[in-house]
Amino acid sequence: MRHITITDMRVHVIKVPVQATHSHGSGDVSAINAVVLELVADSGHTGWGEASPWPVFTGTTEANAAALNTHLRPFIVGANALRREQILSMADRAIVNCSEAKAALEMALLDVVGRTLGVSAGQLIGGRQRDSVPVSFTVANPDFEEDMEIIAHLHGSGVRIFKLKTGFHDHGFDIMRLEKIRETHGDGVDLRIDYNQGLKATDAIRTLRDFESFKLSFIEQPTPRHNLEAMAAISAAIDTPIMADESVFNPREALIATKMKLADIFSLKVMKSGGIVRAQEIAAIAKAAGIGVYGGCMFETGLAHLAGAHLVSSLSEIDLGCEFYMPSYYAKDDILAEPFPIRNGAVHIPEGPGLGIDIDRDKLANYTVETL
Ligand SMILES: [Mg+2]
Repeated sequence: MRHITITDMRVHVIKVPVQATHSHGSGDVSAINAVVLELVADSGHTGWGEASPWPVFTGTTEANAAALNTHLRPFIVGANALRREQILSMADRAIVNCSEAKAALEMALLDVVGRTLGVSAGQLIGGRQRDSVPVSFTVANPDFEEDMEIIAHLHGSGVRIFKLKTGFHDHGFDIMRLEKIRETHGDGVDLRIDYNQGLKATDAIRTLRDFESFKLSFIEQPTPRHNLEAMAAISAAIDTPIMADESVFNPREALIATKMKLADIFSLKVMKSGGIVRAQEIAAIAKAAGIGVYGGCMFETGLAHLAGAHLVSSLSEIDLGCEFYMPSYYAKDDILAEPFPIRNGAVHIPEGPGLGIDIDRDKLANYTVETL
């Protein structure tokens, strides 16, 4: 097959309700706001992709919907989906930033090509190196008692990794929550914390020293994104591994982070890098520099989680797990036709063609705010 031509596209702006407001060092989240890209091909197949922006982190739904519908549509309709990298290069030239829109485009191209050829998206990006990856749940409810109930429930179902969002209340609250979880569930749980840039550089090292005794797997993005010197100073001073999230979006930033030694681990997210392949490029830089990688996500439906799952299964090393828990443990519903596959505390990578699970069109319509 030499051509799979994209004949039409639609852009759906969606809002999916969640179970509780979650707080972070950089703000609160009360719904999953996303943009779903639908590509129709002359092969008779449809491909789906998702852009999941967060205004204080990556961007807005408005900008990403406009990027796809106005600026990228001329390069998408009529394109040969088998030339995925060429289409993505054109997208990079057509509009700056909007990495979430570019991730959605790559996802939908992988989905439609995979469905047409009868292979999974994972097979199109190098093939899987593992069939499942342990999943982490994020503890971010200002009402900690509610979180303790969820942790107990998830612990019972096999989840052993918990990441606390810190720095949105006070330091004592963060210490108290870690102590309480350790007390209740013992040393068998793997704990980490994420500040989402919430600490001031002037006081960060002293604050973070208080966590060394908890033997956390990592401390994520303690200080503001662009203060690379502060991240490097913290990494040098603190024994607990430091993870860069907001400081590393793309391969260029990964290279700078490597040179400046600002982290021990990078969080990979298809929404930051603009797709799976760009995230694999970051993983290659990390591997060459002896830096670990982690499967992160934004506020996503199961659709974007599928892309993340194919990404982490394709990497040579992914020791710290992934956090694709949203449709299973946080959102009130999903847009996938089957439940996102989490069993016994791990994400199981789907085997089916394309991204592996279809969209439920009724659910998509139910949560659509606007179609372009
Ligand atoms: Mg983070």
